[in-house]
Amino acid sequence: MSTLNVSNIQRFSTGDGPGIRTTVFLKGCNLRCPWCHNPENISSAPEELFFAKAGKKEVYGKLMSPADLAEDLLEDADFYIRSGGGVTVSGGEPMLQYLGVYELAKLLAARSVPVIIDTAGCVPWSSFEKVLEVVNDYYFDVKAGTPGKYSELIGGDLALIESNLRKLVMAGANVTARIPFIPGVNDSDEELKRIGEIIGSAGVKHADLLPFHRLGVAKYEAMGLDYKYKDTLPPSRETLLRAAEIIGRYTETGIE
Ligand code: SF4
Repeated sequence: MSTLNVSNIQRFSTGDGPGIRTTVFLKGCNLRCPWCHNPENISSAPEELFFAKAGKKEVYGKLMSPADLAEDLLEDADFYIRSGGGVTVSGGEPMLQYLGVYELAKLLAARSVPVIIDTAGCVPWSSFEKVLEVVNDYYFDVKAGTPGKYSELIGGDLALIESNLRKLVMAGANVTARIPFIPGVNDSDEELKRIGEIIGSAGVKHADLLPFHRLGVAKYEAMGLDYKYKDTLPPSRETLLRAAEIIGRYTETGIE
């Protein structure tokens, strides 16, 4: 039996899929996006964050069995089912814990509660193959369009990510591409075109731009870390519309 390294369980979450849903954040990630909004989920070790302004401590990281987690989540099963919602498994990188995610999703599916997996896609294809047995819906991050940017800035392998994206679509999964729109990283026309080409040629039917925001600043402070993007401004509406127009040449595109 697998265990899941759970960072946080967020009930009635918004922006993580349709209907009423709960988002489960799993701890541990194999990428290092410098703008990461969830720095507490990068390391797999338990962490205590101290929010000085609020004078409170929060602990992230608790091992749970898929059965115990499913039991907790299924308390809201009626809400999910009546609203067309479900459970989103995010992170960190949830696919690093694919066996536990598979077991969790199987237990939820048995009660007709669907799961969305929110992944950055940089894992062996065999992990997706397993999870595909019980999960059809994926939010799949495409963070940059050039291999060098992925490997040097983010610590990922674009060829593997692109290959997994194609294979998921070919396997018949319902895949939404998610593009964190980060000033100075992927906001040039050239970079956006490359991202659009990757998404479009993989056959993805819908993409969403996720505009950069600074909501993670308090977490960096609470972890005693410097946040490189603390002075970076969120993109303007005009900039976002231009980016959506470029990606929209390759697939239907929205702004979250
Ligand atoms: S993939 Fe997500 S959790 Fe991992 S470092 Fe990047 S933004 Fe953070």
